[in-house]
Amino acid sequence: MDIGFIGLGGMGHAMANNLVDKGHRVRVWNRSPDKAADLVARGAVLVDRPADAVAADGIVFTMVADDAALNGVVAGPDGILEKLGPGGIHVSMSTVSQETTRRLADIHAARGAALVAAPVFGRPTAAAAAMLFIVCAGADAAREKVLPLLQTMGQRVFPIGADPVAASIVKLGGNFMIMAVIEAMAEAFALCEKYGVERQAMMDVMTGSIFNTPLYVNYGKLIAAHEYTPAGFKLALGFKDANLVLAAADKARVPMPLASMMHDRFLSAMARDRGELDWTAAALNVSEEAGLQIGSPPSRG
Ligand code: NAP
Repeated sequence: MDIGFIGLGGMGHAMANNLVDKGHRVRVWNRSPDKAADLVARGAVLVDRPADAVAADGIVFTMVADDAALNGVVAGPDGILEKLGPGGIHVSMSTVSQETTRRLADIHAARGAALVAAPVFGRPTAAAAAMLFIVCAGADAAREKVLPLLQTMGQRVFPIGADPVAASIVKLGGNFMIMAVIEAMAEAFALCEKYGVERQAMMDVMTGSIFNTPLYVNYGKLIAAHEYTPAGFKLALGFKDANLVLAAADKARVPMPLASMMHDRFLSAMARDRGELDWTAAALNVSEEAGLQIGSPPSRG
């Protein structure tokens, strides 16, 4: 298929790569064009403007950082709206607010195009291995049309109806659940460390028993070792998501005290210049508040 892909960061590059691997003709655009070099060497076409990634009735994917970046590549100067016309499909895969998703869905619908929201669970390593979990919502015909392409990027696609907002809100709810896991592990590890138990020992017990699931295993390794670079998912983007969760909760009048706490946890980490670390680095703040020296062997409390 003839498709466009916009946003070649940690996630987008790996996802576009899988489309190229499957033999699709992919026109790519990234704010920093150098990130496209290896894709171009394998057949992708680098374009100068987001609009040029789009065929009028074609399919264009976006995987940029946040709401502002998405609005820019869609409706800003040189944005995809310039070209995407009737029959066109925009597959929006970033984690963004339900409000942005609603607005873009309406804008596309008014022009005879369709928005499919398809946010993902899984980090860049999962994206590279085409093992993402993809939540997908949009008009039935558009969703069916892009399904084979999404299957190229993920191990499972979860269709969740015709309203794209549903996919955005499921993604925000899911990311909130991950934040809670990070905090729970960070606090439990700090408690054990205070009593002379190695963080890793605690991690081995829990992930070898009742918390033997990929999320605890993969995140637990990073939190136990306080290993936050390279960032699979930057803490600054996690902070963005905490804000999105709270804004959605405010709007719908859903008290989420834990989300409020995680917002402040990430805010405190941002204040300490940790935005470029992996978001599990929130655990550093937990350890510091417990008076622990990072990287020292545990001593009995
Ligand atoms: P990333 O590595 O920081 O990449 C961000 C991408 O957005 C880059 O292509 C960047 O371009 C582009 N960008 C940023 N600001 C822009 C702007 N103003 N205009 C145009 N392009 C802009 O982030 P990522 O980890 O790939 O995440 C991408 C999206 O996926 C985010 O919404 C994130 O929340 C979501 N997500 C991430 C993960 C994960 O584990 N990493 C998992 C699930 C979902 P440059 O290359 O020029 O900087």
